[in-house]
Amino acid sequence: MSTIEESALAAAAPRIHTELPGPRGRALIARDDAVASPSLTRAYPLVAESGSGYFVTDVDGNRFLDFAAGIAVASTGHSHPAVVAAIKQQADRLIHIAATDFYEPRYTEFMERLAAIAPFEESARVFLTNSGTEAVEGAIKLARYHTHRAGIIAFEGGFHGRTLGALSLTNSKVKQRAGFGPLLPMVHHAPFPHVRAWREGSGGDGSAELEVLRTSIFGRLIAPSDVAAIVIEPIQGEGGYFPAPAPFLAALREICDEHGILLIADEIQSGMGRTGRWWAIEHAGIEPDIVTTAKGIASGMPLGAFIARDTVWTWPAGAHGSTFAGNPVCVAAGLATVDLIESELMANAALMGERLRTGLQRVAAESPDVRDIRGEGLMIGVEFANHAAANAVQQAAFERGLLTLECGQASLRFSPPLIVDSAAVDMAVGLFAEALPAARQPEPSIAVSGG
Ligand code: PLP
Repeated sequence: MSTIEESALAAAAPRIHTELPGPRGRALIARDDAVASPSLTRAYPLVAESGSGYFVTDVDGNRFLDFAAGIAVASTGHSHPAVVAAIKQQADRLIHIAATDFYEPRYTEFMERLAAIAPFEESARVFLTNSGTEAVEGAIKLARYHTHRAGIIAFEGGFHGRTLGALSLTNSKVKQRAGFGPLLPMVHHAPFPHVRAWREGSGGDGSAELEVLRTSIFGRLIAPSDVAAIVIEPIQGEGGYFPAPAPFLAALREICDEHGILLIADEIQSGMGRTGRWWAIEHAGIEPDIVTTAKGIASGMPLGAFIARDTVWTWPAGAHGSTFAGNPVCVAAGLATVDLIESELMANAALMGERLRTGLQRVAAESPDVRDIRGEGLMIGVEFANHAAANAVQQAAFERGLLTLECGQASLRFSPPLIVDSAAVDMAVGLFAEALPAARQPEPSIAVSGG
């Protein structure tokens, strides 16, 4: 029986039987408030206790339909039996060895698997990391080393992580940068074509934004010959689920070829089958030089990677490493995840993504609140008039048992596990339909502690 059939059998409805958060949830939140970093931003008071497939249950026994997947991470659903078995088996066998210094079969096999799916013809090499931001750090370092240049072009609205190098590229919300400077020098942010796809009509093909890159940035701020890399999310994630138009990506490829710049596709959110292909950039039909990945790569175990064309790896032994990265248990989860994505989940993401988009559009057509619906596969953003409206729908959905997450200025992202079936998609669309009018009514506010 396939994973999807199994999850269909496990299908049940969300069930909310306490106020939110419930008594146990409230107690936990109070304890958390006393010790957690104030920088955390819990969108709503979900206090998760367990998860199975596309459902999450909180500490008070309320069951939620998870269309957030832990920020697009639980790609195979929560605690997929094959992933759990791989983790247990590997934990019994070997938990750590430090792959920077020693060899380990699963580590090598996982790199082989990633190299085989790299979005370019040339053969690939791989460096495994513990997180997305480390994959971006590594990609920046490799690009600088290989080109002997310091400059980086990133994009307005982009998100690439929180460590200081990656943060220098991150440009989605100023509070993520405020107080942390100075950041990396010679990083410039070009405008990203934030094209509305549905109700507001097209914003163009990105030619106006390219003109700014060519004339303002390369004409006034930095010579292309000083630029090591152009770093772009083929679909902006945190920035609002905006796909970059294919002609825009193709033009970036041309600029890179003309000036010896490396094109880095940050696929940490958009990759690993979520859009119906391994990588979102494949939809545009162009090849990057380096691709970064993390999030859905190991179903929630901390793992990431940067994958580059063979000829880019000009750095010597000792130039880059990591104690934990590519940990055998994470890699075992990664291998099980890649197997599942390859055998059925990628195709399912395309199919269910279409069903979800059509369903959301049907509901939105009746609603004055929705401004746009866009994305690829199971990476769909729904835009509202403003942040308050998006937040109100997010809260109303939560109260009805549907987990979504805000992104960008005024959007909600739907990034469910890739195992979702028709029943789950239809349930999510139904709950969204209920949340829309409810969000317009002033409802009694739920108690979110932590400010
Ligand atoms: N790049 C992109 C496109 C992301 O969406 C994220 C996380 O949201 C990151 C990088 C950073 O990944 P991590 O949070 O694992 O460091």
